Amino acid sequence: MTDYVLTPPATPSLPVQGSALRFAVNRIFCVGRNYHAHAIEMGRPVDKEQAKPFYFTKANSTLVESGATVPYPCATQNYHYEMELVVAIGAPGFRVKETDAAALIYGYAAGLDMTRRDLQLVARETGRPWDLGKDFEQSAVCGAIVPMGELGVLQGGAIHLEVNGQTRQRGDLNQLIWNIPELLADLSQFYHLQAGDLIYTGTPEGVGAVQTGDHISGHVQGVGDVALTIGAAE
Ligand code: MN
Repeated sequence: MTDYVLTPPATPSLPVQGSALRFAVNRIFCVGRNYHAHAIEMGRPVDKEQAKPFYFTKANSTLVESGATVPYPCATQNYHYEMELVVAIGAPGFRVKETDAAALIYGYAAGLDMTRRDLQLVARETGRPWDLGKDFEQSAVCGAIVPMGELGVLQGGAIHLEVNGQTRQRGDLNQLIWNIPELLADLSQFYHLQAGDLIYTGTPEGVGAVQTGDHISGHVQGVGDVALTIGAAE
């Protein structure tokens, strides 16, 4: 028994489909440009022959469970959705080969990488870290974890997002520039991946702003749904 001077924060976690147990979330890694059409809409096309994937992180305290209502965040006038497949890590891995990557995967979820786009772009243009644009409170939205099971290593499947019932993003996991084994092999060159880590794998084209009162719903074929409602500004 360890006593603390302050009460430690609760462990962030997500429901697991088909289980009464929850998935405790450790770190949250996010892949930057990983769909060509989105890279182009952001003005930074990717040449896979020349480029490597890049990453940013969100604290696990930013995690929000699907279905929540979050306040329109402070300090932005350009609050964006990014619909993403999330890979949940279930076993440790370091310098993993692509052919061994499947053993690290616990399952998948549908997620939203919510972004203060104005702050992210200022950071990008000035060569500063992306934290203010990406790693802010309630910015990592995630649905239930679906155990990998017979899904195996996903190689395709529709991914789409609607705002107030209107389609805004539509893509397919087969359009990922770096697929799941390639991401796990690359990311594990830089980190010892651990059970509980989440990897947001990037967003297809069509990112855009939302306002107070908007309702976002997203779906990844074979994986599930994610939803978020935007409340009043703080
Ligand atoms: Mn993203």
